[in-house]
Amino acid sequence: MGLNVIMMGPPGAGKGTQAGRFARERGLLKISTGDILREAAKGPQTPAARAAKARMDRGELVDDDTMIAIVRDRLLRPDARQGFVLDGFPRTVAQAEALDEIMKERANGPLIVIDVEVPELELARRLASRRICSSCGANADPFGPSITCRKCGQPLVQRADDIQDVVLERLKVYARATTPVLEFYRQRPTFRIVNGAQAPEQVAHELDGMIDDAAAAAVRR
Ligand code: AMP
Repeated sequence: MGLNVIMMGPPGAGKGTQAGRFARERGLLKISTGDILREAAKGPQTPAARAAKARMDRGELVDDDTMIAIVRDRLLRPDARQGFVLDGFPRTVAQAEALDEIMKERANGPLIVIDVEVPELELARRLASRRICSSCGANADPFGPSITCRKCGQPLVQRADDIQDVVLERLKVYARATTPVLEFYRQRPTFRIVNGAQAPEQVAHELDGMIDDAAAAAVRR
């Protein structure tokens, strides 16, 4: 049975970092919709790619149909059979409903939902100082003094949507569009909350325990 995890939480909560680590350690497919869109923005400038990039640069959400098609395609591929960790999806209730349908189609294990909670002031501080690699897009080590990427050695830059005005818009969009998704999942027995304001190692430790516990609880039901 697959281990299927979605990592919810506002921008800057550290969900991408934790999703990447957990997926690596457990041999699961990590799917970050933000990474997929940033990669697509570097490719051929189709009208759809241009429209998506413009929305991202303003801190707005890309439309549900596009996002659902991207995620559906990835989740139904054979390399997602062992399970997946989703980072950045679902961000709207319509996306969450579509994901339930995709899960029925996959018929491969429960959906474990983790909400990484971090106070808003701390998020704004983290996003202002976040740097990513200009070449491979990896997040820089938040505790390292490095000015180059630890993976490929290329220079680090600020993400286009991490400038202050856009950050505020993204936090607003999260509160408006994505908080209802938490309500959509909250009553499920596989829903867990982790305190993301702690040190990354502590978050990792608690998260691993929660995911294993939720998976075991789902099997017992
Ligand atoms: P992220 O890297 O997850 O912070 O995503 C960066 C940007 O990509 C977001 O601000 C949105 O513009 C877009 N995006 C990523 N995932 C989604 C999604 N599931 N639905 C709509 N837009 C998304």
